[in-house]
Amino acid sequence: DSGQETAPKNCAPLVVLAGPTAVGKGTVSAYIREHYPEVWLSVSATTRPARPGEVDGKHYHFISQQRFDRMVAEGEFLEHAVVHGRASYGTPRGPVLRAAAEGKLPLLEIDLQGARQVREQMPEAYFVFLAPPSWDELVRRLVGRGTESAAEREVRLATARRELAAQEEFDTTIVNDDVRRAAEELVQLMQQHVCAAPGG
Ligand code: 5GP
Repeated sequence: DSGQETAPKNCAPLVVLAGPTAVGKGTVSAYIREHYPEVWLSVSATTRPARPGEVDGKHYHFISQQRFDRMVAEGEFLEHAVVHGRASYGTPRGPVLRAAAEGKLPLLEIDLQGARQVREQMPEAYFVFLAPPSWDELVRRLVGRGTESAAEREVRLATARRELAAQEEFDTTIVNDDVRRAAEELVQLMQQHVCAAPGG
């Protein structure tokens, strides 16, 4: 009865896509929503207002802070986090588990804090880190055009460093050099690693 803890992952119930701020996770998942209907993309709940063009129930479930807090209290989230200190985001647990049980290809596009929570609860999931083509470029983008204070710049640089270090915790990395290429690579990885995948 040995080897359970150290055995390699056979197949994963779902894939988590995470990565640093401003790396383009949203663009990659939007591309997948548009071009890969075989991927079941989790719809997060958020307390931020909808942006023009965003559809409730499709891009997010736009809910009040009160409702969000109630869902947290009732354990309805697989993971949840405050992102950029501004709004709460969470992955509703039920739909994700159902999708996995129904043999779909579930994908969660969430931030690094959320990915860590999913890993604690579901170490058998497959974790994909989306990396920028160049860390220097990402840092330049995060730091901005010199309009921030030195203190604000320091905060952002610290964030970038922390995010870079997080890469080690992931099963693999995809470089977001081109949205279509990155999306194709992600779907290929899903087909290789998700239990429900055809032939997987
Ligand atoms: P946006 O508000 O621009 O759509 O998303 C902001 C950030 O929130 C992105 O980094 C996105 O990955 C993250 N995010 C979206 N949904 C979730 C979620 O359910 N959980 C967590 N932890 N992060 C999320």
